[in-house]
Order: sequence, then structure tokens, then C-alpha cells
Amino acid sequence: MYTQLYFDYNATTPCDKEVVNAMLPYFTENFGNPSSSQHPYGWLAKSAIEDATLSIAKTLGVSSNSLVYTSGATESINMILKGVVRKKKTKGKHIITTKAEHKAVLDTCHFLEKDGFEITYLDVGIDGLISLEQLKSELRTDTILVSVLFANNETGTIQPLEEIAKLTRANGSLLFSDTTQALGKIDITSVLHLVDFACFSAHKVYGPKGIGLVYMKEMEEAHSIVSFIQGGGQQKGKRGGTLNTPLIVGFAKAIEVAYATLEKEKIRTEVLRNRLEKGLLAIDLSVSNCRSDMRLPNTVNISFPFVDGASLLSALSKTIAVSNGSACNSASVEPSHVLVAMGISPTIAFASLRLSLGRNTTEEDISMAIAVISEEVKKQRENNILWERKDH
Ligand code: PLP
Repeated sequence: MYTQLYFDYNATTPCDKEVVNAMLPYFTENFGNPSSSQHPYGWLAKSAIEDATLSIAKTLGVSSNSLVYTSGATESINMILKGVVRKKKTKGKHIITTKAEHKAVLDTCHFLEKDGFEITYLDVGIDGLISLEQLKSELRTDTILVSVLFANNETGTIQPLEEIAKLTRANGSLLFSDTTQALGKIDITSVLHLVDFACFSAHKVYGPKGIGLVYMKEMEEAHSIVSFIQGGGQQKGKRGGTLNTPLIVGFAKAIEVAYATLEKEKIRTEVLRNRLEKGLLAIDLSVSNCRSDMRLPNTVNISFPFVDGASLLSALSKTIAVSNGSACNSASVEPSHVLVAMGISPTIAFASLRLSLGRNTTEEDISMAIAVISEEVKKQRENNILWERKDH
């Protein structure tokens, strides 16, 4: 049933066995409610959560008070954007973000627009980077929040957060960066000192699905978020509801495991990625969509002109799991909004593949991926009349 090769680690990762083992006792014998303060069942769960939170905070170099658990990065993003704007609406109603954000940010911004907030969507260049000049010119006295994706999920492009933070700080605007894809791939401890808010998701880092985090830099700023999940007073009232002990324990273990081998794994992945990219760029007319030097070590995104993207993906799905960032809605399939924002034509965006590597990717996987994709692109082109005519 499953394809043999997995090249979609930016979509999700398998749960690490160490993570599963760490979680198991909290589903069964240690099942207490961490809010039950009257008996040892609750005490044990509470202390497991405290230990997990301390471990995450220590690894990321932040205070454990700055972390709030959620169900994943999408919820974290909703909490940050909606929470900040509600609290700051007397200061202003203007938000700046970029056209290449994850849909979790873009859709939340569209929702806020309907609610009377004004959103500026910054352009990105063919390298996927925003222009600092454009950001500077769009910042206003009523700009309450700037939201910039740190590492892009489709291209791996990393934005210059240090320069961005200088501009937002000078303007008195809060800075949120979606750091979901960077966690576990590169060290983000220094980035967390630059931003006011960040978000994470365990399933992107070999942890379980259904658990995420909001990072809030200062407790002062944390109070500047209006909570929208009331009930029970958990997490200092910022998100009510019984905390999920096993998933929190698993998230902490996943981060611990990732950081134990971070540098080594980064170098290993980069070597494999470069081999893969070189192999795919050897295909006639193929073009890389990862043009920034600042990029994730695991992400390759390549366009293959004169290929029908949908048939390419469908043919590849028999042997290799890849994606192309297009989004299906009820009426149509849209090309990747990230590639289109970079100025790539919809036709070429459709004819693109994102391959994301991970912990289980091997040399053999890379050789096989290059062979399978080269063969399939060739086949697709043989059936394309435009390919035959291209030199005339
Ligand atoms: N932000 C980025 C950059 C992502 O890649 C993803 C997942 O695809 C999300 C947010 C949403 O994460 P989650 O699946 O935890 O809601």
C-alpha cells in the first residue's frame, strides 16, 4: 500500500521509538490528570509535565514560563495572531506579513481582515526573501505585529530575522516568526531571542501529532495576548483544558533527541540534499527554486518545464512520496502560492517537486529518487507535443 521512498519530511515525520517509549507509561499506569492536586496520580502527571517543560526550555535557551502548549502549529499561529491583535487593537489595526507564509498564517490573516484589521502582504523575490526596504517602508505607527516565516516549508528559504527584528523593534511593533520547520533541523536558540513570538509542532520533529507550542518572549508580552480558550485556568489562563501528559512528554523527548544529534544530522542531510539536487538538476532544463544561500539543510524544490505536474506526481506516487505545494479546494487545484509569490509562472509551479529529507533518508534513497524522477520526467515529456516542438 505504501510508497517505498519517503521524501516528505516537511509534511510530517515518523514518531521516534524513544519518543513512543517515553510516552507509553503516561497513557496507561501514569494516567492522572495533571490538574488533580489532591492525590499522587495528579502529582505524578504534573511533575512529568514540569520536567518536560523545563527540558524543552533548557534546550531552547528560554524560560519555561514563556511556553504554552497547544494542539499544533496551526493553533499556535491562531493564538498568537488573534491574541495579539485583540489586545493591541487600541494601538492599531495594521499587521504586516508575507505572501510566502504557511496557509495557517495567511488564512488567519484573511479572517482578521474580515474583522476590520488591515494586512500588508510583503512580496518575496525569486530567491524567496523579503525586501528589508519594503518592510521598512510599510511599517507604520499603528503596525502592531509583523509575522514572517523563518524557514519556508516549500523551499527551505531562511529569512534574515536579525535585520527584520532591528526594524520591528525600532518601530515598536511585535515580531512573530513561524519557526515550525526550523526546529530540529537547525539550531534556533539565537532566533528565539530576536522574536516576541514563535511556534512549534512536535510532528515535524519526530514527535507525536496533536501537540504544539507557543513561545512568548516576555511574560509582559505574554500578558498582552488575549486568550480565546477559557476554562479550568490551565497554563496560567492562556489556554484552558486538561494538559495532554503523554504528548507533552513525547514532545520534550523529541526535542532532546533532535538536539543530541543536531549538528551531525545537519551535515549528513546537507550532503545528501546536495547530491539529490545535483542529480535532479542534471535533468534537461530543470531549475532549482531554492536560490538563497540561507536555507534548510533538507529541502529541495525543483521545476521541470514541459511536464504536467499532476501526472508527474501521480506517476511518482507509486514509488516515491513527494509533494508540490499545490492546494486543492472544492472547485480547482491551485499552484503553490509560495512559488507563485516568488514570480514563478503557475504552469512551472505546477511542474515542480518538493523533496524533503529526514533522519531515515539514505544514500540509496537518493540514488533511487534521482533515477525514478529522471525516468518519469523523460516519459512525461515524450508524451508532450510542446516538448517535441520546443526547439522549433
Ligand atoms: N507552519 C509551517 C511552516 C508548517 O510547515 C506547518 C505544517 O505544515 C504548520 C505551520 C502547521 O503545523 P501543524 O500541522 O502542527 O498545525
